[in-house]
Amino acid sequence: MAHEHHGAVIVGAGFAGLYLLHRLRGLGIPAICLEAADDVGGTWYWNRYPGARCDVESMQYSFSFSEELQQEWHWSERFAAQPEILAYARHVAERYDLRRDIRFETRVTDAAWDDAARVWNIATNRGEKLAARYFFMATGCLSAARLPDIPGIADFKGRQFHTGYWPHHKVDFTGRRVAVIGTGSSAIQSIPVIAEQAAQLTVFQRTPNFSIPSRNRPMDDEYEQGWKRDYASLRQKARMMRTGILYGLSDTPAMSVSAEERKAEYEKRWAVGGTAFMGSFRDLLLDQAANDTAADFVRSKIRETVKDPATAERLCPRNHPIGTKRICVDTQYYETYNRPNVTLIDLHEAPITRITTSGIEAGGVAHEFDDIVFATGFDAMTGALLGVDIKGRAGESLNAKWEAGPRTLVGIMTAGFPNMFMITGPGSPSVLSNMIVSIEQHVDWIMDCLAHMQAKGQVTIEADRGAEDSWVEEVNTVANRTLYPRAASWYMGANVPGKPRLFMPYVGGVGNYRVLCDEVAADGYRGFHFGGVERPAAAAE
Ligand code: FAD
Ligand code: NAP
Repeated sequence: MAHEHHGAVIVGAGFAGLYLLHRLRGLGIPAICLEAADDVGGTWYWNRYPGARCDVESMQYSFSFSEELQQEWHWSERFAAQPEILAYARHVAERYDLRRDIRFETRVTDAAWDDAARVWNIATNRGEKLAARYFFMATGCLSAARLPDIPGIADFKGRQFHTGYWPHHKVDFTGRRVAVIGTGSSAIQSIPVIAEQAAQLTVFQRTPNFSIPSRNRPMDDEYEQGWKRDYASLRQKARMMRTGILYGLSDTPAMSVSAEERKAEYEKRWAVGGTAFMGSFRDLLLDQAANDTAADFVRSKIRETVKDPATAERLCPRNHPIGTKRICVDTQYYETYNRPNVTLIDLHEAPITRITTSGIEAGGVAHEFDDIVFATGFDAMTGALLGVDIKGRAGESLNAKWEAGPRTLVGIMTAGFPNMFMITGPGSPSVLSNMIVSIEQHVDWIMDCLAHMQAKGQVTIEADRGAEDSWVEEVNTVANRTLYPRAASWYMGANVPGKPRLFMPYVGGVGNYRVLCDEVAADGYRGFHFGGVERPAAAAE
């Protein structure tokens, strides 16, 4: 079959793919976007589990590239729920007429660089063959959901769900005996909602997590108008923050104030709700003693909230510093364990041995269920990238190149794979940030780079291996200055058996990273090689 030719192929129609498509049109590069789902939205298309919601405030978890768009959209709650975020993604697709260039229900399976033609050849599960000069992996950091390797999983005769592949119809748990496996963010959001419906809910916990109440509420009109009046400058400030989120980050080290002052600060932030709790003191992720004070505070809140002392102790995290696994944000999570229909099973006391036709065997006890909900997470950051068989220059496979862990230059490109760009790839702040801020920053940077190439008549760009080695080292050095590597987290690949363990995101901060990327560009795209002059440079000037 002959290849269809396009200027660019984008894989994924989440927020990254949508914004890329819009910007590529602006540059006059004809692009096609290929998406496995039957609609736009990415994360917010797939994760429809009960209670799914954002933990970045709605006024900030939204695109900033268009003043009209940010003025006209109204968020109904402080933290938007999944249906509203999906509606927003659809609105963006329609407002910018993006759907005409998106091919749904199409999974990209293979991509190979043809060095002679200087194009990517791309194949899909529908047998299509496409060729494009530029290839964008906008496949998401948390889009490859994982079922655990528990024996017997296929034998269960009841209903099984994964939070990351939730059905599109309403799932009713009324009167049912439900198991939830996992206690990460997805579980912590869904457990309180499922518990309200189910006859009986049993939670299987391997590692307890720290969770902060969201204090979610309907959008306050004055608050919304405050943001809208000043959106441009507030967005600019957010872009320079450590996490890309505008909230109070203290400059004070935790141990420089008295225990009473620390407690007062934690109480204040606990009452406000949300991830800003981690901004209470500037060194919470740098200094173990400082971190212990915040962790102790949250453990004291768990003990205050959960009436059964044994359950409270099981829910208290002890094996990682607070914040080194993604902090959770909840609505009535700990309170849910006071319900008579909810039971917590600690897998360290009673490990799961197998799943049977009618339930789960743990610690020698057979528990019977009608439904099992797997809230067991994702092959994060690299899962979707390596889910495509990508071959670069001289047939080098990305899977082989990344066998010992991902290697990138600033998380955007990887050496040996010319003209292939990753949005929020490993080695960039990505999952440690408000991801829409990071998506916009990557797409804007790449578009500037492509405009630069157009002006010079260049057709290829590739990361230098030496520059990439230095960046990988920098990512590790910065991570090792923090407490993050002390947790067996998905940031480290620790949740996937056999996955190399190294800290994947760049922890140096969204604002610092933006400055660094801008310096690279200002320095003639330091560390990148350009090639293949298409027309005389003089003609392009
Ligand atoms: P995605 O939204 O993941 O989209 C990637 C798309 O690529 C998917 O639609 C997928 O189907 C498609 N795809 C992948 N591989 C292929 C292939 N081979 N062929 C074709 N299509 C493919 N971030 C925050 O900043 N704040 C939050 O509060 C927050 N909450 C989250 C809650 C949940 C439940 C999850 C899972 C993630 C959350 N995130 C949050 C992270 C979230 O993933 C990002 O904010 C953002 O939505 C990512 O957009 P994206 O376009 O990069 O990727
Ligand atoms: P996760 O954080 O990886 O949590 C998965 C849970 O399943 C963990 O508790 C894990 O235990 C457990 N688990 C995995 N395999 C298991 C096994 N074999 N047996 C028993 N337990 C097992 O995944 P997630 O909750 O889907 O969240 C992933 C990320 O998505 C979050 O960190 C966040 O970035 C994003 N997210 C955000 C929100 C939000 O609030 N906006 C909501 C959902 C998701 P261990 O910890 O022991 O591995």
